[in-house]
Formats: sequence, C-alpha cells, structure tokens
Amino acid sequence: MRCKICQSDMKLHLGGVYDDRHGYPGRFDIYRCPRCGFFSLSPEPTGPELDNLYTNYYPRKGLEPDQVLDTVTQLANSKDRFLTWLHGTNNCCHFYAKQGTRVLDYGCGTGVSLVEIKNLGAEAYGIEVDENIGPIAEALGLTAHIGSLESAPYPDKYFDLITLNQVIEHHPDPLKLLLALKAKLKDDGRIMLSCPNVGALSRRVTGRKWLHWHVPYHMNHFSRKSLHLLLDQAGLRMVSIKTVTPNLWTILQIHSLLAGVGEEERDTSWDPTEANGEKQIKVLRTQVRMQRKAYDLIKRGAGIMVVPYNRLIDLFGLGESFVVEARISK
Ligand SMILES: [Zn+2]
Repeated sequence: MRCKICQSDMKLHLGGVYDDRHGYPGRFDIYRCPRCGFFSLSPEPTGPELDNLYTNYYPRKGLEPDQVLDTVTQLANSKDRFLTWLHGTNNCCHFYAKQGTRVLDYGCGTGVSLVEIKNLGAEAYGIEVDENIGPIAEALGLTAHIGSLESAPYPDKYFDLITLNQVIEHHPDPLKLLLALKAKLKDDGRIMLSCPNVGALSRRVTGRKWLHWHVPYHMNHFSRKSLHLLLDQAGLRMVSIKTVTPNLWTILQIHSLLAGVGEEERDTSWDPTEANGEKQIKVLRTQVRMQRKAYDLIKRGAGIMVVPYNRLIDLFGLGESFVVEARISK
C-alpha cells in the first residue's frame, strides 16, 4: 500500500479494527507511512458505500432546527473566549472568522457553524453532502449548498476564509479537495483546518482503542510532517499549527476505553433513542447531554485532572486536534 501523501510503501500498523460507535459492519486495517508519519485506512469505503455511511450510519436524521440552535457556542466577549479555551472547543476553525469577511465552512454538518459565523459578524456559506441538513439550513435561514464542492454555486477567488472542521480526515482525496478549495479563496485569503493528530500522546497510550481511528469514517490520519507535505503539494503555505484538545474528547476517550462495545454493536451513548427503538436519532441532544455530563464530571473533580492535563499537552503540541492556518504560496 502506497502513502497518499509521499508515495512511500506503508507498513501494517493495526489489523482488524471495527466501528465501535455506529456499528458499521466489517473489519479494517490501519497502515503507517514510515517516511512522513501518515496513517491510512484499508480498505476505504467508496461510491455508494460512502454515501450510505453518512446518510444512514451517521446519525443526523430527524434533527430539529431548535436542537441545532441549542448547541451554538457564544463568542461575544472575553469571558466566552476564555471558556472555549478552557474547554478546548477553540479547535473550531470558524471561531477565528473576522467581522465583515466572507467565510465558507466546507463540511458544515448541522449548520451550527454557520450560525456562529454570522454571530461573529461575518457572511456565512456552507457546503454539506448530507441531505438531512437541507431542511435545517432552510428553517434557520442559512446559506448551505447541499452537494459537492464541484456543484456549488460559489465563484472562484470569493472567500476570505475557508474552514474545514474535522473534515479532511474523512475525504478520500485530500489533495484534490485542497486544490479545489484553494480556487475559491481570494489571493490573500486563509484556509484553516482542524483534524485529529495521529502523533497525539493519547494515540500512543490507547493503541487500537484510540477514539480517532473511528473506522471506517476516518480514512486519513495526519502527522505534522504529512500535513506540511500535503499543504505544499496543494500550493499552500502553513502559517501556523497548534494542538487543541477538547475536554469532551478526553471524556469520550475514557468512556470508549471502558464501554467495551462489540463488533456490529451500536454504542448507545452515541445515540440512545435508536437503541430504545425510536425512529428519530436525536444525536445532537445526546451530544449536548454528554457535553453537560462531561462538564458535570469536570466540576465534580475529574476536571481537576482533565482540564490542566489537556491545556498542558496542548502547550507541548501533543494534543488531540491540530488547528492549522495556511495561505496561498507566493
Ligand atoms: Zn508518507
């Protein structure tokens, strides 16, 4: 197997990993590139399998617009900013949007990012392949193109900022994606992306139980070096890179280590209403509940460990999520 980033021969790193969140059937291998530190999923889902993965296995069906509004992060003042730092939620790239600019969030998911961009005083545009999002965007008055980047009605050199929050690891061809996005960027614009850091301390500690293997949804696992290489190939210059670890991720990692979910089983913590036989999967409500549970735990003492631990590993760049800023190379 060849590395997508540097074309070197990859080595098998983990065999027989399964989806322990949404119960997608099958076992998958993880390969590692000894040269650039990039890790890859094998086999990768393709074509209709890929559509099925997101439309039916990723639990966004039946979301209500109000549930989306429930999850908006406030960013109005310095206290709000401090809280995003404390909770490690400032790995959301669109939080760095500037007032009066035009912002595209590629892979905007539920659309909550578009609400947050508008709240920051910027123009918000989204692209999302999941058709479940169309009615939500309409109800909330958001500008989101449902479909591919190629079919989006946005002109070239249009955006001041393009953001990708936890998206690039899901894409079968990250170079092609970045090249296409670069065309939509103004000459002096910025691309900001966040994705899991395969060099994270937790990955080394948790082995095959690492939260972000997330098979078969995550196909690409970037190291610092492989991200640098990829941006170079796309004609982009990395301006900054840091790690930010959401406290919620740490709580979820601990949960996943303890839950012991078997093959083809759904982890009911991710979507309990489905497990109870209800038709609608109200996952956002669940995420909010889990977020509150995490904050509860933090308040009750676990946070005495989790909060300073996360802020400290981020200081050393060993945290869970990269946050990268790039500009077009001159
Ligand atoms: Zn490589």
